[in-house]
Amino acid sequence: MFDNVVQASEAFRESAHRMQGSLRMALKGCPECRTVDMIASPSLGACEDCGSAMIALPR
Ligand SMILES: [Zn+2]
Repeated sequence: MFDNVVQASEAFRESAHRMQGSLRMALKGCPECRTVDMIASPSLGACEDCGSAMIALPR
């Protein structure tokens, strides 16, 4: 009984950790004007200010 509770909490902690990784805020930046924005879609798109292709910023 106690073992089951421990296992459940372990699994919960693991899934919560995994979720944090996938939901981690990713940032994209414009190499031209240095605009930084959050990546909100799978595609990086273009800079709103100058139209240059955005690049993903390393964390
Ligand atoms: Zn720009």
